[in-house]
Formats: sequence, C-alpha cells, structure tokens
Amino acid sequence: MSPIWWLRSRGAIPHIKSSTSRPQFIAFRYSPVPRTYATTNVPEDLYDVVIVGGGPAGLSLATSLRSSSVTSRLRVALIEGLDLGAGRKWKPSIENYSNRVSSLTPGSVGFLNDIGVWKHVQRNRVQAYHGMQVWDGVSGSRIEFNWDAKNSSTIAYMTENVNLVHGLLSRLEELGGAQLIDKTRVEGISFGEDRGTLDLRTWPVVQIAGGRKLVARLLVGADGANSPVRTFAGIESRGWDYGRHGAVATVKIEGMPGAERTAYQRFLPTGPIALLPLPGNLATLVWSTTPEIAAQLKKLSSVDFVAMVNGAFRLSHVDIAYMAKMDGRISEEYEWRQSVTPLDMAGVPSTILEVQENSVSSFPLKMRHADSYISERVALVGDAAHTVHPLAGQGLNQGIGDVQSLIKTLEAAVQAGQDIGSTLSLEPYCSDQYLRNSLMIGVVDKLHKLYGTASPPVVAVRSLGLRAVNAMEGLKSMIMKQAAGER
Ligand SMILES: Cc1cc2nc3c(=O)[nH]c(=O)nc-3n(C[C@H](O)[C@H](O)[C@H](O)COP(=O)(O)OP(=O)(O)OC[C@H]3O[C@@H](n4cnc5c(N)ncnc54)[C@H](O)[C@@H]3O)c2cc1C
Repeated sequence: MSPIWWLRSRGAIPHIKSSTSRPQFIAFRYSPVPRTYATTNVPEDLYDVVIVGGGPAGLSLATSLRSSSVTSRLRVALIEGLDLGAGRKWKPSIENYSNRVSSLTPGSVGFLNDIGVWKHVQRNRVQAYHGMQVWDGVSGSRIEFNWDAKNSSTIAYMTENVNLVHGLLSRLEELGGAQLIDKTRVEGISFGEDRGTLDLRTWPVVQIAGGRKLVARLLVGADGANSPVRTFAGIESRGWDYGRHGAVATVKIEGMPGAERTAYQRFLPTGPIALLPLPGNLATLVWSTTPEIAAQLKKLSSVDFVAMVNGAFRLSHVDIAYMAKMDGRISEEYEWRQSVTPLDMAGVPSTILEVQENSVSSFPLKMRHADSYISERVALVGDAAHTVHPLAGQGLNQGIGDVQSLIKTLEAAVQAGQDIGSTLSLEPYCSDQYLRNSLMIGVVDKLHKLYGTASPPVVAVRSLGLRAVNAMEGLKSMIMKQAAGER
C-alpha cells in the first residue's frame, strides 16, 4: 500500500483533483516539517474551524485557538444564535447577582488564566470557598472538608456565567482574528461538493440565516444539549431525564462572613439542596427537586420562599414534604415547626433573610453522554457532548476540560502537519477526555440515585459509608483533588 494512499485513507490528506494551478487554501499536503496553515488567500467560505455555539464552551475554544501560538493562524468562525452584545456590554449592578452561577474548579481557572481570560473576569464578583459541608438529610451523617488555615486550598470559585462569558468575549476582542457571527442560527448542515480542484465532499457546510454558507475543515459542536452538530454527525447521545428540576435563586444571608467561606449541600430524598457563597452576604441556591416543588417555589411570596429554603436545610424531610404542599403561610408553619423540633444546627448555613427579586427560576435536569466526541471533521465539546446533574458542580468544568484537551490535540496535529479535521488527528482528544468525563458522569449519577431514597437499609449503608470516608483524611484529600479538576 502506498504511504500516500494510506495517509489519504486516514484523512491526513484531503482528496484533491490533479490540476496545474495549486488550490489556494489551508495547507493540505502531508509534510514532516511543522506547517503554518496559510489562512490568507483562501476562498471566502472556507474555514479551518467553524464552532457552532457561543456559550462558555464555544467561546473558550475560540479563545484558546486564537491565544495559542501554534493555532493562532487557523481561520476560525463562531456562530451563535443569541446576541453576544449582552455579554460584551455587561455592566452589573453591585447588589444584584445573576442566578446562573457556576463553581469553577482551580483546574478550570488555571486554564482560563493560561489563555488570558481570567484577568478579564470581574474578580470582585467572584467568591472562592475553602470548606464544604455535605450531609444526609435522612440520617444526618456528614462529610466535612474544612478550611485549613495552613494550606488554605481553594475548593472552587463561584462565578456568574455571564461574568465568564464577558471575560471570554473581552479576551477574544483583545486577540482579534476570530469571526464572531451572532444573532444567527445554524439552519442546516450538509456536505460540500467537488469543486474541481478541491474535493469537499467530506467537508461539513454550515448554512446560516440569510443563505450564507461556511465550509469547515473541522466543525465543532459547542451547541448545547440539543446539539444540531451532533445530529448532523449521526452521533447518538444516551441517558435519561431525572424527573427533577434545578431551582436556582440569589439570596441574602444573615451576618457578614469573613474570608473563610463554606459551601453547604444537604441530600434530601427528592434531591440535593445546595447553598454556595457569593461576595458579601449573598449566596446562590441550587435546589434539585421535583417539578411540582420547583413550580411551587417560583410562585411563593418571598417570605414563604425564604422559610421553605431555611426549612429545607434544617427540618426533617417529612416536615419539608408537608410544607411543600401548602398554598401559603409557610413562614408561620416553619416558625412553629422550628420551635417544636429539636434541630441539629451544627454545620448548617447561616439563616437566609431575603431572596433577590426575579431571581427564582428552574431547569429540567438530565444525564446525557454522546457515544463519541468525534467523527470525520466533527468534534463535540461541552453540553453537546455530555450533560450532567449539577450536584457536583461539574458540567461547565467538564466543558472547559474538553476545550483544554481538544486544543492540545489540535496543536499536536498542526505541529505534525496533519489535517486537523481527520479522525486520525482528533482521536487523542476523544480517548483522553471520554474516559475522564465518563468516570465523573458515572459517580454523579450514582450519588443522585444513592441519595434519592429514604429506604432504611439504603440509608444505613450510605450513612456508614459517608462516616467512614469522613474519617479517612487521605481519601478525602484524593476526592478533593479530583473535584478541583487536577489533570
Ligand atoms: C441548575 C444548574 C446549575 C449548574 N451549576 C454548575 C456549576 O456549579 N458548575 C459547573 O461546572 N456547571 C454547572 N452547570 C452546568 C453548566 O451550566 C453547563 O454545563 C454549561 O453552561 C454548558 O455550556 P456550553 O457552552 O457547553 O452550552 P450552552 O451554554 O448551552 O451553550 C450552547 C450555545 O449554543 C447555541 N446554539 C444552539 N443551537 C444553535 C444553532 N442552531 N445555531 C446557533 N447557535 C446555537 C445556544 O444559543 C447557546 O448559546 C449547572 C447547570 C444547571 C442547570
């Protein structure tokens, strides 16, 4: 078998018709010397990388491609259906915080720092936390990750998603060079055609509103859970709906905490409720619960909402279930139940005083994992590749991990003179990241299932396990390293 045929069959060399005039586009001949990827004098519609989706994952990839000296000459376009102007011009008020907040691990923040994004994120609106209290809402067994004054390690940084998007857009503007096409939806994706000197029959062609078409050497789906790119590539995504909604809100808590901050999570049989610190005396709430309770939380008066959430961290799951069925006067019910119930107040968060106006909303929760992250000339990143229950705060971090892994793969392909769209070039991304994500998705899914019951034998076994892990400092530190995103 001739080596040229073999390379072509593996996608390293596109099929090019013989011609006297050399086609003018991105380098395509296999060469042992690092190639530069000519990005000038190419047909208008040809791109090295077309990214669909301008959420955190898509913008992180575009920024990484532009900030890497190896990939900065690739021709990159990003298409987003929504208006990116809102993130670009974001001017937040001091006292109001978005209800879409993510806990970014030190690993993710390190990568954002490396690509020059972190300096553009408004740091006065980011809150680090160093301790974690996680407990079983039925048995009360607990695992604690405490603030250690000596090695004050940060568990995660609470960051509004819009703050991150603003930072990414600012960095992209600083770098220049990427074509951002927003307020424009992808309307269809098909294969290219044989252009005589250039056979594009395996290249994806992205059709956007207004009839314009972009031809992609590599098409990246960063287009969220219902990814049109994934559908085009024929990659199955499997999993299940949890039958739970994640209710979120921004709340004000009692007292002004010091530098040491703690995150709290209580596992109730209907799903976990978490309170995570924001700057000042604010915190963000994520309560994974039944669609009925989520719908009720959105309708409650602010005083009843506050009582319901304070109760969810303190009362028995039976009390909470009773209150969740009430139409009103929940705050009086909470006061009474609190006065007659012996409460274990150690390790619960400060009392919630207020909920920020219009900050209560909810999202259906599901688990999905694509069968593969790549196919010929296609790669998936972020929620397009996987969707995970938010109980471990890992979804966005996994998306950033995907970008970190994909950019490493693309750099290696460019340096080796390979075709970045071929499965041969993309394979290291899939093998590196798929296993890593599978492990995390599996653990999160099992935790949700293990704690989603009040059945006495299951509660006894899981409580024993939690107490045992809590007593093993070595194991706890290993868990924290994983959660911190150490690669
Ligand atoms: C309640 C809740 C709490 C969470 N908390 C955390 C946390 O603490 N930590 C964490 O790491 N993660 C968390 N997550 C997960 C995190 O929010 C997501 O994983 C992350 O936002 C996904 O980013 P993405 O860029 O992959 O996708 P998205 O943000 O969904 O972006 C996809 C983009 O693609 C665009 N798009 C889609 N189709 C088209 C089309 N046809 N044409 C053009 N554009 C298109 C969309 O407009 C969208 O902007 C949480 C999720 C929930 C629901």
